[in-house]
Amino acid sequence: MNEMNKPKILIATGNAGKVRELHELFRGVPAEFASLTDFPHIAEVPETGSTFTENASLKAVGYARQAGMLALADDSGLVVDALDGEPGVLSARFGGDVGFDQKMQLILTRMAASIEHRRTARFVCSMVVADPSGSILTAAEGICEGRIADAPRGRGGFGYDPIFVPDGHQHTFGELPDEIKAEISHRALAGAKIMRYLLAFTAV
Ligand code: IMP
Repeated sequence: MNEMNKPKILIATGNAGKVRELHELFRGVPAEFASLTDFPHIAEVPETGSTFTENASLKAVGYARQAGMLALADDSGLVVDALDGEPGVLSARFGGDVGFDQKMQLILTRMAASIEHRRTARFVCSMVVADPSGSILTAAEGICEGRIADAPRGRGGFGYDPIFVPDGHQHTFGELPDEIKAEISHRALAGAKIMRYLLAFTAV
């Protein structure tokens, strides 16, 4: 496929950590990827849904319509069993306008105060692709099971990575190499399903 015929896909997230992982994930797709920084006048799409899938759909549709091109959005977060599923869809806003060191500390403090002693948790990612007319073309969900560490460890990754130990590992996503996260994360699992769709879509 020559450069002129490559479809354009907007990676519709302002989160630098996600943009980095998504670019890496879709490296093999013969498309031209744009990011929200290429569209400074696009209005932010509010995440008013109550599920990851609702929010990912709102963002994919909202950004595809505004940009006039295919948009791929993800909504993701950390679900902690001992906290009744919190922070869940509110992961980015949990604890208010504070850094992730404080958000992670808040989770650890709330878990220590809870009568629930389970440390199980999961990262969930819902990914949706929409076209400029607002139709949803495909959607996928990925789940990475694990547990919450006793304290943050490691400086890799982003967000809640330093307190999340994926199943089958002793180290947190903050300590594990990027290559491991790229194989087993919630975003990698959802992305693998979306990847199959994009490869078929770009082959037409
Ligand atoms: P949203 O999907 O942009 O609403 O935000 C998701 C929130 O969950 C952000 O605060 C992220 O930091 C957090 N999150 C999502 N995926 C990951 C991950 O892979 N590692 C760490 N934190 C994550």
